[in-house]
Amino acid sequence: MTRLFNEPDAFADEMIAGFVAANRRYVRSVPGGVVRSTRSPQGQVAVVIGGGSGHYPAFGGLVGQGLAHGAAMGNLFASPATQQVHSVARAAQHGAGVLLSYGNYAGDVLNFDAAQEQLRAEGIPCETVTVTDDISSAPVAERHRRRGIAGDLTVFRAAAAAAEAGHDLADVARVARLANERTRSFGVAFTGCTLPGAVAPLFTVPEGRMAVGLGIHGEPGIDETDIPTADELAERLVGDLLADAELPDGVDTPRGARVVPILNGLGALKYEELFVVYRRVAELLEAAGVEVVDPHVGEYCTSFDMAGCSLTLFWLDDELAELWETPVDTPAYRRGSVVPAELDDSEADAPGSTDPATPAIPDATPDSRAAAATVLAALETVAATVDAHVETLGRMDALAGDGDHGIGMQRGSHAAVTAAREAVEAGAGTGTTLARAGDGWSHRAGGTSGALWGLALREVGAALGDEAAPTRDAVAAGVTAADTGIRSYGKAEVGDKTMVDALVPFADALRREVGAGSRLADAWAAAASEASVAAAATADLLPRMGRARPHAEKSLGTPDPGAHSFALIVTAVGETLAAASAAPKGPSA
Ligand code: ADP
Ligand code: MG
Repeated sequence: MTRLFNEPDAFADEMIAGFVAANRRYVRSVPGGVVRSTRSPQGQVAVVIGGGSGHYPAFGGLVGQGLAHGAAMGNLFASPATQQVHSVARAAQHGAGVLLSYGNYAGDVLNFDAAQEQLRAEGIPCETVTVTDDISSAPVAERHRRRGIAGDLTVFRAAAAAAEAGHDLADVARVARLANERTRSFGVAFTGCTLPGAVAPLFTVPEGRMAVGLGIHGEPGIDETDIPTADELAERLVGDLLADAELPDGVDTPRGARVVPILNGLGALKYEELFVVYRRVAELLEAAGVEVVDPHVGEYCTSFDMAGCSLTLFWLDDELAELWETPVDTPAYRRGSVVPAELDDSEADAPGSTDPATPAIPDATPDSRAAAATVLAALETVAATVDAHVETLGRMDALAGDGDHGIGMQRGSHAAVTAAREAVEAGAGTGTTLARAGDGWSHRAGGTSGALWGLALREVGAALGDEAAPTRDAVAAGVTAADTGIRSYGKAEVGDKTMVDALVPFADALRREVGAGSRLADAWAAAASEASVAAAATADLLPRMGRARPHAEKSLGTPDPGAHSFALIVTAVGETLAAASAAPKGPSA
């Protein structure tokens, strides 16, 4: 439970502001997160990490000499938006390219990949290595699908040490991949976590029971057992991590192998409890003949106030062993002694601001401006609809995902309304109003659905433009572009149990009805009812994409939250369009 906060919505921004105020010798704010406040040599590869907030010291606490050059800091448990990653990477780079590294979660992958594309298009070389250490989230054969938990630290450190040693971008990426290949983690939880202002934890574990194989965003475990003794827990963690299948390539037996063990507290466990567990972990590793190097016991990647822990084993080879010994000096993680770098006073601090400056509103015709008012009204309806269903959407997402779909959609839709209102008041046309709304949505919501809804609004905006009054053909073309864009960006297809299952039939029906000559409001209403049927039918599917995948079977019988919210939203927008077309100057052309 979170006791101290002001406006729950402002929590992440206020946390970052305080974190920076307390750590100016290490970090400074830039839009989207933080970068080192110390000078790094020109020609050094920049390691940029990131993810949602709520995992301190990941990710901002790991920025400083010897570790990351910058961290994109998203909202609580929500991936940073593309603009945030892009902005932090630009501020952190020193002419030798950027390595992006982060835990493998669908929303993060979408946003970091999009940022990578932008950086490359601007001539900044960029590579990505996702961390996939959690052995409970997919079988060995599908290691690339595993999510990232406390093993982040080993990958970030190895990559950063290689960057500090002057390796080029390709080699820093190689080292990061090698470190990830040799990092395995496994975790358990005794209670779920409760975000600021939330009335209930994201998931609960019955009293006296333990969730095994949890995620760090309140994703439920893959198994549940009675709470074991500290020694029994150590035996389970070490046993699963030393299983043959989990030994990395190049390690045939634990005997004689060098391993860095990291026993990580998730937020609400006492250090003393961790030490009791570690006592037995050390005995077991010794009994297995492992050569233990530099053990870590403490908090390295938390999950807000979740009570639980994870054990990571980092299997060193000669190269990684050498990199591991290099000094680090960051707000939350220090090893050895660094030669202090000068403070970088070349750029002004931008405290608290995570919003990149927005360019001026382009000219628009009176017709397009009039229709922008309808867009604003539709977005207000969207936000009101999300408000009315926020709890349900959260509960649906908590079944197999991380429970944030309601609050994410709420943050996003309200930010879209704010951005659209500002645009309309400044005289924007339909296209610009939708583009601004899309940026606001993805920026504030973060996460998978935030990125996808932001993209959708921008695509529709691009099809409508600021010149002509929107025609029904242009609207249908915009929705088709949004459909294509979402599928190419998120790589989900019909049947994967995502919002795509409702979006595709919606776009198809809208095109068909418009092509047959229906008025926009009628075509939209018909398409919305097909989307609702399709969204309900996702109850019978197993998720194959996104955060829900590791817990696929738990969601059987319940529709996909993203598909459900999509259907609710297009239905509500249909009502706005019907009302507008009944009015004398509606956009129903
Ligand atoms: P997150 O998964 O980042 O926590 P949300 O909880 O807001 O984001 O959204 C979850 C929804 O996102 C899912 O219910 C699903 O509809 C949708 N989703 C997840 N992955 C994809 C994808 N690759 N393509 C399209 N939609 C997706
Ligand atoms: Mg979610």
